[in-house]
Amino acid sequence: MNVLLVGNGGREHAIAWKLTQSKGLNRLYIAPGNPGTAACGTNVPIEATDIPALVDFAKGRDVGLLVVGPEAPLAEGIVDAFEQAGIKAFGPTQAAAQLEADKAFAKQIMRANSVPTAESRTFDVFKDAKAYIASRDESVVIKAVGLAAGKGVFVCDDPSDGILAAEKIMVDRLFGDAGRQVLVEDRLLGQEVSILAFVDGRNIYLMESSQDHKPIGEGDTGPNTGGMGAYSPAPIVTDKMMDQIVREILVPTVDGMNRNGTPYKGVLYAGLMITQGGPRVLEFNVRFGDPETQPILMRMQGDLLEVLLAVCDGRLDEVDLSWDPRPAVCVVMASAGYPGAYEKGKPITGIEEAQALGDVMVFHAGTALQDGQLVTAGGRVLGVTAVGQTLAAAKARAYQAVDRIAFEGATVRRDIADKALSGSAAP
Ligand code: AMP
Repeated sequence: MNVLLVGNGGREHAIAWKLTQSKGLNRLYIAPGNPGTAACGTNVPIEATDIPALVDFAKGRDVGLLVVGPEAPLAEGIVDAFEQAGIKAFGPTQAAAQLEADKAFAKQIMRANSVPTAESRTFDVFKDAKAYIASRDESVVIKAVGLAAGKGVFVCDDPSDGILAAEKIMVDRLFGDAGRQVLVEDRLLGQEVSILAFVDGRNIYLMESSQDHKPIGEGDTGPNTGGMGAYSPAPIVTDKMMDQIVREILVPTVDGMNRNGTPYKGVLYAGLMITQGGPRVLEFNVRFGDPETQPILMRMQGDLLEVLLAVCDGRLDEVDLSWDPRPAVCVVMASAGYPGAYEKGKPITGIEEAQALGDVMVFHAGTALQDGQLVTAGGRVLGVTAVGQTLAAAKARAYQAVDRIAFEGATVRRDIADKALSGSAAP
């Protein structure tokens, strides 16, 4: 079968790499892809959100399955367009993608189905939001309702910061139309984990747990990024807690989406805070996480293409996957200055030497080829991912690999997985 994968980040390189191991794969196209995905298939110069051009391309190349990496094309209805063209598509419809693209919709689904999450109120007029925030004396979290590339959430220590955040979102329209409404949410305390599951509308197949590292600085300091590293599994999620997450969060959400007339298929990603009162939903994402996908797919044993097709066909109950029991750690190498302004075009060396260590994959994110030389081309440049007998061994190997790679200004957090290793995983 020919497959079209949409996206150009580290997540898409990991998906492409895993798909190349599938028995049923004939040709793999990646739009637009990156130099890493070019080693797994054929990159196609079409943007991820140019849906009509992607449909035309797929029809012309006998594509049997669309796989979508990022959220934006899902929110814009890429799955609906492919299904209308008679092509199977892995991911939620536009209506179901609201679970990520509209935080007020997600809260409604959670509330209607008693899914544990932070208390929140939604406002569409700044004056009302301001009055409500001013009436609160604890710290609050202010969220733009729409997609804001992971930047639309402000965790505020006091109400005056909260009012400023709501003003930026609603009045200054820092994130455009994503700021048409704000959510004012109670702040939750604890550790964050990511739980990803395949969902076929009815059946749920859990992937292994993982933990992202959002802030740029060690010890979770500084501004948030797209994610500076991840590891899997996250030991804070015990089997008992996983059962609770399935029972209290995933099953009611999938059932609730059905009752709402927006059945869910694709990857359901629950971003959770493990509080003293148990797991609470911070957000849902409607696709694979980046960088969690890199360590998760390094550990997945089985045929990814078969799983994706089973999701599309509603026969996830027939799927047989297993997981490498060895932990995996992904360390992101970023450009100097990220998540602020950064320079591009810095030559990258050492990737082959890093992979020669064994049990290491270097996934490309913001890279480009310039006159045959691999150079930096984005904020997050590489996701250096390693497996090891223990989490400590996986971490050591990942950093050994990182130390073989060089580009000017390379920025790395040295504490990926330390929360689990230091045993500070308890809420
Ligand atoms: P979200 O995109 O909603 O997951 O928010 C991005 C980040 O903001 C999360 O990964 C958390 O670190 C933080 N966050 C979101 N909601 C809350 C909350 N209710 N309490 C504390 N932190 C939060």
